[in-house]
Amino acid sequence: MTFINEENKNIKELVINWHITEVCNYDCKYCFAKWGRPKELHRSLEEIEKLLDNLASYFIKGHSPLKSGLGYDTVRLNLAGGEPMMLGSTFFIVLMLAKQKGFKTSIITNGHYLINSRLDFPKNVLDMVGISFDSQDLSTRKAIGRIDRKGNSLSADDLKIALGGLIGTQKGIKTKINTVVNGLNYEEDFSSLIGELKPYKWKVLQVMPYGDDELLISDDKFNQFVERHSGLGLPIFAESNSTMTESYLMIDPLGRFYQNSKNASGYQYSDSINQCGVESALAQIAFNPKTFLSRYRPIDIDVIES
Ligand code: SF4
Repeated sequence: MTFINEENKNIKELVINWHITEVCNYDCKYCFAKWGRPKELHRSLEEIEKLLDNLASYFIKGHSPLKSGLGYDTVRLNLAGGEPMMLGSTFFIVLMLAKQKGFKTSIITNGHYLINSRLDFPKNVLDMVGISFDSQDLSTRKAIGRIDRKGNSLSADDLKIALGGLIGTQKGIKTKINTVVNGLNYEEDFSSLIGELKPYKWKVLQVMPYGDDELLISDDKFNQFVERHSGLGLPIFAESNSTMTESYLMIDPLGRFYQNSKNASGYQYSDSINQCGVESALAQIAFNPKTFLSRYRPIDIDVIES
């Protein structure tokens, strides 16, 4: 678990969030996983392995000021997208390599390929999964865009099967369900579903002000959703727009670090990590461990894509 040690502000686990692809089988109206379809790094296994080696050398094996400054014990590589499972066998290879190189692993997925893949999920390569699930109602999921071109959309029953499958193959896995609360689902009652699934965490996030205005909701409506599901013994963790901050390192599909630029207009990118190395790439985005630490909060996977 990622948390703040209140005594010295050290963190237990550093999370590196790799948006490995922007390709996705769904088309959510609130999706902001857009990088203009660049030549994504995962197309070369050699580049993948080089990136993981670079990250492991710096963050796991190395003795950087960053490591002593943050004081973490473990490093978790979180694969997000797009839909990371669209990479098929490459996705599994990344997880296996990451484990071999000493990372904890997690993914954010829309769950489709957890139940619709011809490939078996390798055993014990995943420490945590976040599955995005916004509605038990097909017409609502369709209106949000959580549906593929053939009309497939992860239902509540599919979600149960997907989670059950991972619990059976990934020893000790922590399961999370992420729900983006928006104009189309804020009145929905998830209490019996979440009560039955008993995830480690149910993260509810207020939709971000991207894209479709129809989906935006007021803080009041978001709070109503949270209150309606509170006090029921559910593992609910709520994040409103005002509380969302970045608390992890982010890598884009090209293998560059990125972060919000200081003047809040878009992102600031480093050069390719494989070309210039981790230290110099971090310096290029003006990465500051102290600022990072001050933003670090007791939460873990914090992305809403997938
Ligand atoms: S939010 Fe996630 S599932 Fe939806 S289109 Fe974006 S990447 Fe795909």
